[in-house]
Amino acid sequence: MATSTPVNVPSKMKAWVYGQYGKPEDVLKLESEVDVPDVNDNQVLIKVVAASLNPVDFKRMYGEFKATDSPPPTVAGYDVAGVVVRVGSKVKEFKVGDEVYGDVHEHALNPKGCGTLAEYTAAEEKVLALKPKNLSFAEAASLPLAVETAYEGLESARLSACESVLVLGGAGGVGTFTIQLSKHVFGASKVAATCSAGKLELLKTLGADLAIDYKSNKYEDLPEKFDVVYDTVGEADRGIKALKEGGRVVTIVGGQSVVPPAFVFVVTSTGSVLTRLKPLIEEKKLKPVMDPKSPFPFSHTIEAFSHLQCGRATGKVVIYPI
Ligand code: NDP
Repeated sequence: MATSTPVNVPSKMKAWVYGQYGKPEDVLKLESEVDVPDVNDNQVLIKVVAASLNPVDFKRMYGEFKATDSPPPTVAGYDVAGVVVRVGSKVKEFKVGDEVYGDVHEHALNPKGCGTLAEYTAAEEKVLALKPKNLSFAEAASLPLAVETAYEGLESARLSACESVLVLGGAGGVGTFTIQLSKHVFGASKVAATCSAGKLELLKTLGADLAIDYKSNKYEDLPEKFDVVYDTVGEADRGIKALKEGGRVVTIVGGQSVVPPAFVFVVTSTGSVLTRLKPLIEEKKLKPVMDPKSPFPFSHTIEAFSHLQCGRATGKVVIYPI
């Protein structure tokens, strides 16, 4: 039961919905008569202003998490930035009118039916944080799942100051944050990262001391070795060959064979990471990186998915305005 008076909340909304598993271009439809979600005691209802896409969105849509997923029909989308329009009776941190952002699915592989590619979405307060004032809604929507994965993944690899890190896939949604956090939060002594030739300069501006063109160099053959390899592309086995004695490979890509000292990490959505990073965002030490084709308007969401699915996006693919 919600305790606050609703602010002009209609009963129906537009949302991108799929009724069966498949490719976005085949199954994802923009529907206009979808029920606005109810909120339970611990949730808030958000008027969505912007959302961002993640590969998990299309992997889930393909049916890769069928065993743990909530069954379709599903409103797609994990990441949101928007305005609170209703609060549940036990919500303590947020009130109507607050500008918030977050990844609404606490467990990435066990998501609920109600996502963020919609005019309204419901989320537990623990997955949300107040939007830093210096970020636009589009910029804020580009952070949650990717920055939380970067942060928690580096924590799980126990990266400490005075250690070096190699980020495989430094130009993607997760990689761009992993470089910035390694440098500015974890205090890594050296940050190296891979990407294709045209993105080398970007990686340096994000904090990489060494940017490696993976098409013309084999990073595992470099004389220099690393304490931590953070794998966002599915190369855990090659990553092991780039480690120093006692090093660790954290990979966020499933479906590959992973042997120690490599291990798989899966993100848990929590607003506490976003809150912890707020000062850094406000000091502009941690910056959103939006793909140059972004933002895509809400009606062009299928096009945005096609772009992300190519695997060549730079930073984050954002949907705005919604
Ligand atoms: P993106 O789609 O944003 O990554 C695209 C980037 O990957 C491009 O910039 C591309 O750069 C780069 N890239 C592709 N192939 C290579 C390569 N061989 N070497 C170096 N760079 C490469 O993906 P995300 O960063 O959002 O996610 C990465 C992976 O992590 C996905 O598989 C995703 O599902 C997974 N993931 C897992 C999570 C978890 O909790 N386990 C959470 C979040 C994501 P270029 O064009 O220069 O090649």
